[in-house]
Amino acid sequence: MSRVFNFSAGPATLPIEVLEQAQAELLDWNDSGMSVMEQSHRAKDFEKLAAESENDLRDLLKIPNNYKVLFVQGGGRGQFAMVPMNMLRNKKTADYMLTGVWSAAAAEEAKRYCQLGIVADSKSTHYTTIPERNAWHVNPDAAYFHYADNETMNGVEFPDAPEVGHVPLVSDMSSNMLSRPFDINKFALIYAGAQKNIGPAGLTIVIVREDYLGQALPITPTIFDYKIQADNGSLYQTPPTFAWYLSGLVFKWLKQRGGVEKIAEINQRKADKLYHCIDESGGFYTCSVDKAYRSRMNIIFNLCNESLDEKFVQEAKLNNLAQLKGHKLVGGMRASLYNALPEAGVNALVAFMNEFKRVNG
Ligand SMILES: *Cc1c(COP(=O)(O)O)cnc(C)c1O
Repeated sequence: MSRVFNFSAGPATLPIEVLEQAQAELLDWNDSGMSVMEQSHRAKDFEKLAAESENDLRDLLKIPNNYKVLFVQGGGRGQFAMVPMNMLRNKKTADYMLTGVWSAAAAEEAKRYCQLGIVADSKSTHYTTIPERNAWHVNPDAAYFHYADNETMNGVEFPDAPEVGHVPLVSDMSSNMLSRPFDINKFALIYAGAQKNIGPAGLTIVIVREDYLGQALPITPTIFDYKIQADNGSLYQTPPTFAWYLSGLVFKWLKQRGGVEKIAEINQRKADKLYHCIDESGGFYTCSVDKAYRSRMNIIFNLCNESLDEKFVQEAKLNNLAQLKGHKLVGGMRASLYNALPEAGVNALVAFMNEFKRVNG
């Protein structure tokens, strides 16, 4: 059996070394005679796993001590609700920057709890760019400023954290957390569903500055209150133990490979190779995303002739290149180049694309 290069946007590819380790200890974890899935989350060994994974993540992202790290459930969409519930803090309005399908969906959910300030909206460009800074309408009294650092469907990524003065900055990093270094101090809160660039589905990571805790709206369900989760070490309810364990293995895998700084270099090189192949194809492949804001994680492209799409996807599959079809809302192709997608996978994709162009161009 041969593993494919898997370009899925999420749930996405995981490092083979991590899967092999999980396989090796599936029946007997830590000499317990049982799998990690079958242990109590209150057991000493699991508490140790929880503490170690948090420490590893803190090391990887250089998370300062005045930030809490939460391992919760509900995915990115869960955070679309938890963010306003916890971060409004008696204010009535929150700012949302709309640069793609996901940040627009976050704003739609927040409307249930507050008045929205739309800072800027790139929908009229089909979300292919980020509006210029001088066209943003930032409300200095907003409870927070929410944006999506990487738009997974539209392939648009912020090169740097937006400058919004004193307004607390909230970032959806569901598809690029751990892909490059970030200065956590610039943020009030960062969240990410694990299933893109971290681990398996089921786990959601929240990094929140501790002084924002304890001010949730009275309607907030107890399990959605960040302070409750923080006070209980994310063990208030039964957490998704297996997803947590696997994500912990991914943190160790990343540390062994030189951490976030090193993987960022590799990620940049991977993305450059694929964009180069697209841009140098003489129009056979095109990417409509503004060059200044192209995602390193999710690379969107079209074939010059839509009628070749199905053939491209099928032949790619025969070459062990899987899940390249774009999201149905965007169309075309999408290659997700997360941390766990080896550079050899990008090389193989580029070789396939050049050959496909030669035959069909
Ligand atoms: C996938 C994704 C979400 C939604 O995540 P779920 O875990 O499916 O709720 C939100 N934001 C971004 C940027 C995403 O990529």
